[in-house]
Parts: sequence; C-alpha cells; structure tokens
Amino acid sequence: MTSEFDLVVIGAGSGGVRAARMAAGHGARVAIVEERFFGGTCVNVGCVPKKLFSYGAHFPDEFALAEDFGYRVSDWTFDWNTLRNNKTREIERLNSIYKRILDQAGVTIIEGHGRIEGPGTVSVGDRLIRTDKILVAVGGKPFVPDFPGREHVRISDDLFYLEQLPKRVAVVGGGYIATEFAGILQGLGCQVTQIYRGELFLRGFDTDIREFVAEQMAEHGTTLRFNTDVVRIEPGPGGKQVFTDSGEQLIFDEVFYATGRIPLLDNLFADSAMPALTPGGAIMVDEHYETSIKGVFALGDVIDRLQLTPVALAEGMWLAAYLYGKDKPLAPLDYRNVATAVFSHPNIGTVGMTQEEALAHSGAVRVYKSSFRPMRYTLGDRQVRSMLKLIVDDASDRVVGLHMAGEDAAEITQGFAVAIKMGATKADFDATVGIHPTAAEELVTLRQGERITV
Ligand code: FAD
Ligand code: NDP
Repeated sequence: MTSEFDLVVIGAGSGGVRAARMAAGHGARVAIVEERFFGGTCVNVGCVPKKLFSYGAHFPDEFALAEDFGYRVSDWTFDWNTLRNNKTREIERLNSIYKRILDQAGVTIIEGHGRIEGPGTVSVGDRLIRTDKILVAVGGKPFVPDFPGREHVRISDDLFYLEQLPKRVAVVGGGYIATEFAGILQGLGCQVTQIYRGELFLRGFDTDIREFVAEQMAEHGTTLRFNTDVVRIEPGPGGKQVFTDSGEQLIFDEVFYATGRIPLLDNLFADSAMPALTPGGAIMVDEHYETSIKGVFALGDVIDRLQLTPVALAEGMWLAAYLYGKDKPLAPLDYRNVATAVFSHPNIGTVGMTQEEALAHSGAVRVYKSSFRPMRYTLGDRQVRSMLKLIVDDASDRVVGLHMAGEDAAEITQGFAVAIKMGATKADFDATVGIHPTAAEELVTLRQGERITV
C-alpha cells in the first residue's frame, strides 16, 4: 500500500509541532495528530500559563517595595478570576496561532487520538493512515504516588483552571513544579506549606543555591516541611486532613501534588507495535531518536532526556534535518550545558555543573560566590537577597558551572550560557568589563575564589 505521508507526528506539543513544521519545510509530506490542545503542555498547562501566574504573583511585593520609593499603594485588591480568565484568553490565542503555523507550513492537521497499529500505520478513530515514518511526541502526564486519599489531591493542570484560590495550600514535592507553584500561590496570597520527602528540595541543583532559595522562601512566608512524607489524606469538615509520617495532622483547603511526570503512553501502541522502554517507563531511543521499532521515532518528554521545552524543540529540529534536510546534522544533539531556570520566588538560573558534579568530574575546582541585597531593596529594610556562584575547573580555568538565585536569574543566566557553551575561562570573565549598576556585573567581578579538592 502506498503511503499518504512521509511522516505522521503524534502530539502537537513543543517537540511535535517543531518537528512537523521543519520536516514540511524540508519538503516532506507531514501530518500531525492532536487529541487535546495545540501547543501541548508548555503552552496550555506548563511554561506559559505558569510564567504568567508567576508575574502576577510578584505584584504584592512590588506594591510593598513601591512604598520605599514614596508611593502609597495601600488599598489594592486582587481578583483571581481576572488573572485566570485573562490567562485562558491568551492561551486560546496561542492555540490558534499554533494551528495556523502548522497549516501555513503545509502540515495536515488531524484532530483525535493517535494510535500506532504497526510500523507505518497510525489510526485516529476509524481512520487508518499509511505513512513512511512515525514520530511519537506525546509528552508526559503528572505522576501521583499511590496512597490512601490520593483522590483528594490536585495536579498541576488544575491550578490553571481553579474556580477559587484556596486559603491554605499544601504543595507536595521538591522539584521544579512544586517549588514554582509554592512561590506562585504564596505570592498570590495563599498560606503555603511545601512538603518534601528529602533533606532539602531541588535535588540536582547546586547545594548552596538550594539552601539559599529555602531561606528566601521561608523569609517570604512559605512554610517548608522537609523530611516529611504524606501517608494519608482524608476530607474533614475543616478541610483536607493530611497525615504525615511523623504523626502530624495538618489541615489544608487544597493539596497539590507535583511529584514528577511520566510518559503519556495510554492506548498509544498496539501490542505488536510496542517499542522497548527504559526502566523508568520512557521510550528508549538511539542517538537518532529511533525507537526499537524501525521507522518509529520519539522525542521530547516521552524519552528520558531533559524534560524542557527548548530541548524538545531542539530535538524536533535536529530530527527533521536528519530525516529530510539537505544538510544533515554532523553530530548528535549535545545535551551538555543546557541552561535551565526554576521560576520559583526567587528565580533560579543555572548552566553547567554543580559544585558536587564538577568536583567529582575533575577533582579540583575554584568556587566564587556572592550574596548581596539588590539595589532595588536598599531603600527599605526588606531582606531580599540574590546569590551567585561560579564553579571553575582548576586545571583548565574553564567556567564549568554558573548558578544564580534572585531577581532576573533566568534572564541573566541565558546570556552567560553562551559563554559557557563556548568554553569561556575565568580569565575571560575577568577580562569582561561589567555594566554598572547591575546584578549581572557581579558575575564578572568575582575575584575571591576558594580552591576545593576531593
Ligand atoms: P507536550 O508539550 O506535552 O505535547 C504532547 C502533546 O501530545 C499534547 O498536546 C498531548 O495532548 C498530545 N498527545 C498525547 N498523546 C496523544 C495521542 N495518543 N494522540 C494525539 N495527541 C496526543 N519547560 C520549560 O522549558 N520551561 C518551563 O518553564 C516549563 N514549565 C513547566 C511547567 C509545568 C507545570 C509543566 C507541567 C511543564 C513545564 N515545562 C517547562 C516542561 C515542558 O512543558 C515540556 O518539557 C514540554 O512541553 C515537552 O514537550 P513535548 O513535545 O515532549 O510534549
Ligand atoms: P521533578 O522531577 O522536578 O520533581 C519531582 C519531585 O517529586 C522531586 O522532589 C521528587 O523527590 C518528588 N517525588 C517523586 N516521587 C515522589 C513520591 N513518591 N513521594 C513524594 N515525593 C516524590 O518533577 P516535576 O513534576 O516538578 O516537573 C517535571 C519536569 O518538568 C521537571 O523535571 C522539568 O524537567 C520540567 N519542568 C520544567 C520547568 C522549568 O523549566 N522551569 C518548570 C516545571 C517543570 P526526590 O527529589 O526525592 O526524588
């Protein structure tokens, strides 16, 4: 049977849309199948609405700070419905833009649930589509562990459509989403308790930064309960009762679980077309994103690389060029030195290795650190601080890690990521004249380093 398409992409999220558009741009006949929302997680229930809420959550601090500059902003009010509805309107606008750009790129849009029946065959409802290649870009879904009362919790998707903003909220988890949500909800006026099972949240980030963010969040009013696990949740007259492993009983109006995300493989493969999975349940791919089933590719959150939108986009572009481009990529995608940010309050920006990783890697590093009160806060007595840190490989002088927590951390880190990707040394940083007065200039004026060896 002849193929209708060269490529059928299942999932119109970050990776799928980019791969489909680029493949069509290279001349391939492409269709994309989407069952829920164009733009995927990032646009609908991820990066974009989260960042809009994060902006919204900073206003009370800005109003308070304005007083130090002589403004009286005492009788402000906040209307959750306005923020939520304006956000939803903006997301709907983005959905239609995503559909339009696919259409303009010549990609055939098919709405419905895609299922792989076998190599080269995708079904959407009653329709069977023959294609040369298939790309699985279905993303992930929230994971909530099994425990009594699990049905009483909310997941990250729910925050974006809440009818009312709860007063007392628990956020369970210590990763990106939990820490971002804790900051957003606290900023919007909720009383937030973040519950994390380990010693210190944000595992995988630099320890100094993790400790600093914990301090700043606590200073800002968030209750942090580390070394705490939830064993049971029961609804009660006063709210949701959360029973912890230390025997406590806490009461909240809402409990959000942000305990990781897992690949969305529901009804995706016929038994005979099931590719090999990693022990964690992600689709296993080779360096060309091909699964164990020939002609079936996968990328984005459904594989076990980095679960970040720019990574899914880069993978999509790489694969489209590899399969259909005139100039094939010469090497696999480089996952080293991918900058990332946590839009917590304060923000974290990070690129390269943590101190722990760098030490394990090279045995001797120099660490340069600074913690300071940004100029904006010097007129009052608010204890808002920023922290930055450079990790330098002692032997080569290369800056192998840059970490920041504080205002504009994400924006600042993005620029420095270019230098780090290019292999800048500490001497290059020192030779760079700063911009005064900024927080970022601190990164080129750090002179007192501490040499640490394993
Ligand atoms: P997705 O964007 O999830 O897209 C998958 C698409 O496939 C969806 O539209 C889904 O409906 C569709 N689909 C699934 N199964 C089928 C099927 N069988 N048939 C048809 N369609 C199907 N990343 C960042 O870089 N920065 C951030 O600030 C950030 N914030 C985040 C905040 C939250 C709350 C969350 C949850 C995630 C955030 N992320 C962030 C991660 C980012 O959203 C993901 O890494 C990214 O969306 C992954 O893209 P993807 O293409 O793999 O999948
Ligand atoms: P993360 O993997 O970042 O964090 C999951 C958290 O849940 C960890 O603290 C983990 O603890 C904890 N956890 C896991 N299982 C359990 C359990 N059974 N009981 C209690 N706690 C548990 O996942 P998120 O859900 O926060 O986010 C998913 C991904 O989405 C992120 O990894 C990131 O790649 C992406 N994302 C990116 C953002 C950005 O770029 N700003 C924002 C939001 C999401 P432990 O550390 O002990 O394992």
